[in-house]
This record gives sequence, C-alpha cells and structure tokens, in this order.
Amino acid sequence: MDYIIRAIDKKKTFRIFMVKSTETVETARLHHNTSPTASAALGRTLTAGLMMGCMMKNEKDRLTININGGGPLGTILAVADNQGHVKGYVENPSVDLPLKDNGKLDVGSAVGTDGKMTVITDIGMKEPYVGSTDLVTGEIGEDIATYYWVSEQQQSAVALGVLVDRDYRIKSAGGFIVQPLPFIEEEDLVKLENALGNMKSVSEYFDNDDDVEDIARRIFSDFEVEITDKIPASFSCDCSEERMEAALISIGKKDLEEIIREDETIETVCHFCNKKYLFEGEKIERLLDGIR
Ligand code: ZN
Repeated sequence: MDYIIRAIDKKKTFRIFMVKSTETVETARLHHNTSPTASAALGRTLTAGLMMGCMMKNEKDRLTININGGGPLGTILAVADNQGHVKGYVENPSVDLPLKDNGKLDVGSAVGTDGKMTVITDIGMKEPYVGSTDLVTGEIGEDIATYYWVSEQQQSAVALGVLVDRDYRIKSAGGFIVQPLPFIEEEDLVKLENALGNMKSVSEYFDNDDDVEDIARRIFSDFEVEITDKIPASFSCDCSEERMEAALISIGKKDLEEIIREDETIETVCHFCNKKYLFEGEKIERLLDGIR
C-alpha cells in the first residue's frame, strides 16, 4: 500500500515528507497507457503532488501542478488534496525517448526546459494562490525545489524516482521533500547536506518492501527522525456523471442541440482517469430540459 509520512528531526531543524507511490503511478499508467518515459514524468509529478498536497491544512484544499516545458510530452498536470489523493494526466502519453547514456529514462528532454512549472494552491480564498517558475532541467525534482525557492524563499531538497519494468509496469516509485526549518544551525545544515550528498539514487531506496519510515531513518541516519504522521496515498479521481452533466450544461443549449442533431449521443471522457460517460435518449432530454 502507498503512503506518505510526515517527519521531523528531534531538534526540529528540518522536516521531511516522504512517500512510496508505486501503486499510485501504476494506476496512472493503466488509466493513460503511458510509455516508460511518460510514466516517469507523470509519476514524478504525481509523487510530488501527493507530498505537496499534504502541506495544505484543510480537506477541501486543492493543489495543482502544471508543467509545460515545450517538450514532446506536452502538458503534465496533477491535482492533489491533503488526504493522500492525487489524479493527473500527461498530454501525449505515448511519447517515448531513447534512454540516456547512463541507462536512465530521459525525462528532462521529454518534458523540455522551454517553459514553466505553475503551482496553483486553492485553499478556499477568493482567489487561489498561483506561483510560477521557469523550468530548469525538466527532470521535475529540481524544478520543484526551484519553485519553492523562487516563490516561497524556502530551501528544499526534492528527490523523485520512478523505475519502470521491462513489461512497462511500474517497478517502484517514491520520493521525498526535505525542508530546513528557520532556526537550523550551520552545523546541522552541513550534516543534512552531507546526508543528501551521500545518498544513492532515490529509486533504489524504494525498490523493495522497506517501510517508508525505515527509508527515512536510513537516509537521515545522522539525525533522530520522528515520524509525526502517516497518510495512505492513492490515485483517485472524483469525476462523476453529475460533474460531466454540469460540464455539458455549461456548453449551452444551442451548441448541445447541434451536437445531438449530428450524433444523437454525447460521449464525454474524463481527462484524469479516461472514464467514459455516455449521454443518450432520456438522459439528453433531461439535460436539455435543465437548461433555460
Ligand atoms: Zn475521472
């Protein structure tokens, strides 16, 4: 089962968000039939979304990550709440690129660096908070760290990893965000930087049955890590026939009638989970009756 942990070192010098997201990314792959490169790019974005969502306070708060780097994958979008739910899609899921010389998936080239990462935080205020930064590497982890620095002046280390198996299934996925707290002393900051510098590649930590708690304690073994929260995580879409109806109604009576004249049925597809909704016969009449 996927889950997120929230942790803090005992001296309260930094906080950790860490998540194992293998099943979440595999569910996304099944919904969207993503190529290995697309699985990695979307998977890293979903993994980050799960953790960033948990930084919000209320159940109804929503965080959206929109990445558009001008690369062949097109736009990548993820929407998360603070309850461990995330949904998302990539515009061109079948795009795949050759592996890099080091044998890794070339997420950076597939995403591109000629564009922006935009993070929209909707916490029920009149206007959502929108922060945007230029993409640096397109590898997503570093771009999110840059986002926190540029928009919130918050130092962060972000590590995201997705391993794709030969049969294209997700072998493992996970990641963490580490943020030093305001009163961290120089000595501890150096210790923290060393811990991060001595790490293996992040995917290796998640490519087994180890508990997320143990992974956190292993990476930050020079510190006393206290786990403060454990939240189940999953890919979960909240689309419904009612929502699709509402979207159709917003098209307007005249345009809807035109679509029906040509096709007699209306099929809508949810971008996030590819679920299809079919409207025909009575359903359509009810829909049209509902529009004044
Ligand atoms: Zn859906």
